[in-house]
Amino acid sequence: MPRRRASERPRISVLRVGHRAGRDPRLTTHVALTARAFGAERLYLHPPDVELAGRVDRVGRQWGGTFAVEGVDDWKKFVRAFDGTVVHLTMYGRPFAAVAPALRRSKSILFVVGGAKVPPQLYGLARYNVAIGHQPHSEVAALAVALAELRGIPAPGAWPGATHAIVPMERGKSVERIPAEGE
Ligand code: SAM
Repeated sequence: MPRRRASERPRISVLRVGHRAGRDPRLTTHVALTARAFGAERLYLHPPDVELAGRVDRVGRQWGGTFAVEGVDDWKKFVRAFDGTVVHLTMYGRPFAAVAPALRRSKSILFVVGGAKVPPQLYGLARYNVAIGHQPHSEVAALAVALAELRGIPAPGAWPGATHAIVPMERGKSVERIPAEGE
């Protein structure tokens, strides 16, 4: 299949419902970092969590890009108003491969992932309920696989605005500091 130009690929954002601020900050942070690292533009977070958004913002200041976390008060209203294809990731859904061609043709996709409990209305509001394999695992894993299927695994290199970038190597760790403009 010919590679689609970046401008032709779907724009992707993620909605995480059922975040429990103060109870599972690490897991939701990993949802955010995974969304960012694999090419999503935004994480919409229900309920909002300003501290978490700030932490992810600091990652972006170091490693670049324009990813941001935005709080959502009413997730149902948000899903209904979304201008694009709403895809709920759930182990009970259709196989990813069956839906992938339609997703690749979409202009804009909202992947919705749940937490410990998933509101039942989500199954009816989503355009597609899609499984990444039909075994229970994790919202982080489901999101990573779905994004990598659509976008591939990101290539090395500094992102726009980064102050730091990884230099890939066989062994050890190397981080390059990117000089700011005019430095
Ligand atoms: N008890 C929840 C339920 O009723 O679906 C499962 C919670 S699971 C720990 C958290 C989230 O991980 C789910 O809402 C879903 O988004 C994602 N997830 C877990 N396994 C998945 C799978 N096999 N395919 C797609 N998404 C999955």
